[in-house]
Amino acid sequence: MTAAELGRGLRSGRFSSAEVTRHFLERIDHSNARLNAFVTVVPERAMASARRADATIARGEGGPLTGVPLAHKDIFCTDGVLTSCGSRMLSNFVAPYDATVVERLAAAGMVMLGKTNMDEFAMGSSNETSYFGPVRNPWDGTRVPGGSSGGSAAAVAARIAPVATGTDTGGSIRQPAALTGLTGLKPTYGRVSRYGMVAFASSLDQGGVLAQSVEDAALVLAAMAGYDARDSTSVDVPVPDYVAGLGQSMRGLRIGVIREFFGEGLEEDTGLAVRAALDGYRAMGATLVELSLPNLPLSVPTYYVVAPAECSSNLSRFDGVRFGHRCREPRDLTDLYKRSRGEGFGAEVKRRIMTGTYVLSAGYYDAYYLKAQKVRSLINADFRRAFAEVDVLMGPTTPTPAFAIGAKVDDPITMYLNDIYTIGANLAGLPAISVPCGLVEGLPVGLQLIGPHFSEDRLLAVAHAWQRESDWHRRVPPLFA
Ligand code: GLN
Repeated sequence: MTAAELGRGLRSGRFSSAEVTRHFLERIDHSNARLNAFVTVVPERAMASARRADATIARGEGGPLTGVPLAHKDIFCTDGVLTSCGSRMLSNFVAPYDATVVERLAAAGMVMLGKTNMDEFAMGSSNETSYFGPVRNPWDGTRVPGGSSGGSAAAVAARIAPVATGTDTGGSIRQPAALTGLTGLKPTYGRVSRYGMVAFASSLDQGGVLAQSVEDAALVLAAMAGYDARDSTSVDVPVPDYVAGLGQSMRGLRIGVIREFFGEGLEEDTGLAVRAALDGYRAMGATLVELSLPNLPLSVPTYYVVAPAECSSNLSRFDGVRFGHRCREPRDLTDLYKRSRGEGFGAEVKRRIMTGTYVLSAGYYDAYYLKAQKVRSLINADFRRAFAEVDVLMGPTTPTPAFAIGAKVDDPITMYLNDIYTIGANLAGLPAISVPCGLVEGLPVGLQLIGPHFSEDRLLAVAHAWQRESDWHRRVPPLFA
């Protein structure tokens, strides 16, 4: 069942949250060793929240998500629960407070099952950089689930959690959603509070949802979105009723088909599945307009200057002094810093910190960081021009379906190219969603929709229209059906 279906069943008394929660805890027990999707499971706490939710429902005070279980990416701080960020550096960090996202979803009555595995500090596209080991794709255990929200994606795809949170700095919600057959929503930058979300690249990071359907994504977004005085980049605009907005007609919708997304590098059958979905929209009455965003091909190199620069600054707080991993018996302060960071961070994180420090250093700042910021403005302008012509942009989410574990780990550039279609939306701060649109040799493929700032309501409605016409989002990996 989807989260929405579970919520309806709970409110109508078909089952209790205690029953539903126990069911998911049993599924986790049975399958997590195979998938490695959860880093931490909190059964007692979950059962206690479930009983509270049942009492709320019994009083007639339940909302659409009351009593529905969920999993949080291990990047969100959870009071009293390990928040590892997939890193040895934080493998002993028990957060002293809840992230705003966690707090709001708990206030909506949702039951936290546990924390999901992820690429270390959200740096990766395959969930292979985690200190806790790789996550396996439920559709094929020899393949990656995508990253960095790979644990959340695998958990929902295998139905060991009905829905999960994720974060998206360059594609980390949409890319794993595409590779595991889920709906993944990255909201507009500033739509969801980053308070208590461990920072990777602050100008790009945004929290969102990995779900079985657009309806679920709409429900969870409505509960987690909105202004938060504790995040200075949170934007004070009203949160529409995303669910009420679903069900609009596609007649007259203008869809921009991004030419740059259908070029070299796009695997043929993936392209065909995406084209078939576009035809589906045409059949629903939408108009397709092919258009070009000429600076978009620069998004990967731009991102890989901006994101490492910001991460090198953000991760300087992990110094072995205040919290996190500390080396044994340091000789002096410099030794403490060096060895704590050397031992605490994995190879990919170190690569990013070194790149970021380099591009920010005197003499190179103008040539790299400042230049990247200028290109970022050009990419932004490309999107603005496109949205003067069309309502929504569409294309593939990823160039290929899920690849084999180990296939790209030794080649960072090839790995970085996985995000070629997703990074643009982050650089421009735009909302984007991936929905399943086919299977290629038994592996899911995603259709990506990108909208103007704060157009989540329309984006969700457009994505939902496809899910009324297709059943790709209903497919469950055979091993977990
Ligand atoms: N794959 C990209 C990276 O490695 C994006 C990760 C993300 O969105 N968190 O940086």
